[in-house]
Amino acid sequence: MFKNKLCLDTARCTLCRTCLFICPSNALDFIQKENGVEIVNKTNLCKYPCQICKDKCPTKAINIERKLFFTYFPNKQDKYFIKYALCGACGSLAEPSPIAGRIICPNCRRKLTAFRHLNSVAALKNRRKSK
Ligand code: SF4
Ligand code: SF4
Repeated sequence: MFKNKLCLDTARCTLCRTCLFICPSNALDFIQKENGVEIVNKTNLCKYPCQICKDKCPTKAINIERKLFFTYFPNKQDKYFIKYALCGACGSLAEPSPIAGRIICPNCRRKLTAFRHLNSVAALKNRRKSK
């Protein structure tokens, strides 16, 4: 029987989770660990000839090989580990998804967004005053 074999390039994966949300067979799990995320592919749920995750992965981190299997392993899982990177602003651990080329942790992202918002409000007030 032909089956999919999902191969993940861990150096390319940014943990965007597009593959997790798009998989029609629920064949992927993302498990949060202390210093990264473990991506589990439940191979028995990964249906041949699907390759939606490969087509939609924005960083081309997924490759699907089609293999001929003579035995069936119902609980077989392939596991990949994506290590957290360091936040470019505070140095704490963050998911390696760059925003405008920088890796930023959720805390710094919130602060940066609030700072930008306050700056734009202040600029608007100044413009109104000068009229
Ligand atoms: S879609 Fe690609 S980059 Fe995003 S989490 Fe899946 S493998 Fe990683
Ligand atoms: S190949 Fe299809 S079934 Fe398998 S993990 Fe990707 S989206 Fe899910």
